[in-house]
Amino acid sequence: MILTIHRGAKEIGGSCIELQSDKSRILIDCGLPLVDENREQLDSRKIIKQSKEALLKKGFLPRIKGLYDNEPQQIDAVLLSHPHQDHYGLLSYINPKIPVYMSRGCKALIEVSYFFGQTNYDLGNIKTVKAWEPFKKGDFTITPYLVDHSGFDALAYLIEAEGKRIFYSGDFRGHGRKKVLFDNLLKHPPQKIDYLILEGSMIGRDKGKYNTESDIEKELANLFKDDEKLFFAACSSQNIDRLVSVYRACLRTKRTFVIDPYTAFVLDKLKILSSKTPQFNWNNMKIFFVPNTYTDKMAKGKSLYKFKSAKITYEDIQSMRNKLVETPVV
Ligand SMILES: [Zn+2]
Repeated sequence: MILTIHRGAKEIGGSCIELQSDKSRILIDCGLPLVDENREQLDSRKIIKQSKEALLKKGFLPRIKGLYDNEPQQIDAVLLSHPHQDHYGLLSYINPKIPVYMSRGCKALIEVSYFFGQTNYDLGNIKTVKAWEPFKKGDFTITPYLVDHSGFDALAYLIEAEGKRIFYSGDFRGHGRKKVLFDNLLKHPPQKIDYLILEGSMIGRDKGKYNTESDIEKELANLFKDDEKLFFAACSSQNIDRLVSVYRACLRTKRTFVIDPYTAFVLDKLKILSSKTPQFNWNNMKIFFVPNTYTDKMAKGKSLYKFKSAKITYEDIQSMRNKLVETPVV
């Protein structure tokens, strides 16, 4: 088996790894780089405007034979670890006939991103997989492992072929709400691994002590006890663990969590995958119909109406501001 790291060994994000056996070739992740050719933060809007040829020339797109649609298909599948752009952001450039394997949660969040125009990848050829259930693709036997990460429903993969075993961790951590998965991986690691491909973006950043989500929930609850202030909680609407922490801190302090329609839409999409994901119609949840392009998009797609029952007005917010926690208006 030949293992090629196209990107991700010297930088954070933009991950793309290829495995080639005698008869099959697969990729793991196909991420948008986070930095440009000068190692400065990449503005992804600049990339979207450029042709595939220009992106190949500049090295944003890895040169992988048979991956793109202007040549015969030679890649049998792409495995996706999780729904962060630095792991899937280049999928819109690949041959749409190539099947892309991912978890159901990953698919749901990429669908959301597509609906709101955050990605051009239209999920044309997606296959969903379940954690711990091995499947075969060509010469490869692949077992997804559920891992803890801020990207929802993230997977690691054990990949076996031609007598070799490779474990790809994807992005993972030990301080989120699914911490037990990390503990279990340490207690019962996959055996006889020939190559371990390990995410390492936090290694060496400080002394290795990070707040867990329950620490954060407690700290937020302490802050929210101040009954004179209105608080704003800024985090990605797709960082579900963090939204849960804010919501639980609101419950502890009898505050109401005011989210925007986009966040309500994301949470609603995940309802069938996790009964613990807070929903717009739960106690202590309200939606402020912030006027922005996302709300417009939902209104046009007729998905805004569903959330009407949880609507809170600007006047309500003014009158009960010390009882609320809001996501910032953008
Ligand atoms: Zn990630």
